[in-house]
Amino acid sequence: MDNRAMRDARVGILGGGQLAQMMAMAARAMDVGCRFYETSSAAPGATVGEVVTGSFDDRESLRRFAAGMDVVTYEWENVPVDAARLLAETAPVHPSPRALEVAQDRLVEKDFLRDLGAATVAYAAVDGEDDLARAIDAMGTPALLKTRRLGYDGKGQMLIPTPADAGAAWAQLGDSPLILEQYVAVDRELSIIAVRGADGSIGHYPLVESRHEAGILRVSTAPAPNVAPAIVALARTHIDRVLATLDYVGVLAIEMFDMGGTLLVNEMAPRVHNSGHWTIEGAATSQFENHIRAILGLPLGSTDAAGLSCMVNIIGTLPRLEAVLAIPDAHLHLYGKSPRPGRKLGHVTVRAAAADELDRRRDAVIRAVAPELLAATGR
Ligand code: AMP
Repeated sequence: MDNRAMRDARVGILGGGQLAQMMAMAARAMDVGCRFYETSSAAPGATVGEVVTGSFDDRESLRRFAAGMDVVTYEWENVPVDAARLLAETAPVHPSPRALEVAQDRLVEKDFLRDLGAATVAYAAVDGEDDLARAIDAMGTPALLKTRRLGYDGKGQMLIPTPADAGAAWAQLGDSPLILEQYVAVDRELSIIAVRGADGSIGHYPLVESRHEAGILRVSTAPAPNVAPAIVALARTHIDRVLATLDYVGVLAIEMFDMGGTLLVNEMAPRVHNSGHWTIEGAATSQFENHIRAILGLPLGSTDAAGLSCMVNIIGTLPRLEAVLAIPDAHLHLYGKSPRPGRKLGHVTVRAAAADELDRRRDAVIRAVAPELLAATGR
């Protein structure tokens, strides 16, 4: 590995995927180097810093990775808490291992959010087939059975449309600890991203509206259109409470369901988030830069939006570059991953000064990178 990257790395990032890569690119602009810890050296992060490879229970490699770092952070909420606690003996870890612990178990997370006053869907712990039958009796169907741990992008969950479908869902997921959630008809999905500095100062990005397909984020619009001030205030109250309770340093995202004017909190991500990728071009300071600033104890940058933005994920197959780059104010990001169905390969952020112009440009981007989405909405 390049000696310079070894010498000047100051931030250690657990995980070397695209989120780590984009954090490192923001850090690089401030002459801060990053080092990644990954199970494979063929990670997107390898293009922008040194990758230390090892498993997350390899204490020796973890210590070697953290040696000399000013701070350690992570791009993935399923980093084992024990690994984060071990590293905290060598360098400060932000966000705190406690944030990881809460976010990586859906049941602990929902209890935590409820205790802080946030509304959620009805849910129940499911540790056996009897629990599942009882929970379905109490909650009704449709319901979603989810693994408590290690689910992401819609993985590890099964819809139970009627009580008769419970057995099939149990057969699929029953060997893990589970949570059953009421399946709600969501008006739209919103997320809030905020950053908290080491001095306790907080910056909030505008709310984002996101569209998911099969549990995976496809399109985000920022600022989210038609959000009542009371909803913005409520989302900020929720995130501020989480930040304060966890004495959190760094970027945090909370995903919510907008239910005709009330918010149900779905989950939190103790890291930079896909619904914040638009901030690279669409905000005064990107979520990636603000995360690096926060964890290094530096002043935060403005979280104000610069115009209107839309972000479209590139999933599974790569688009023709010319088709994307010909769209006015469209910005292409490719993570260097090889195409595979369902895999996030990159994203495009497109900006505009007015809503109708943004709609047109967004549709042009979707036509170039995900035409099946337009077919789904009949456009
Ligand atoms: P999650 O894995 O919890 O982030 O869920 C992924 C996506 O599935 C969410 O963004 C929603 O689109 C959908 N979803 C998850 N939970 C529910 C629920 N209880 N009711 C309706 N839709 C849900």
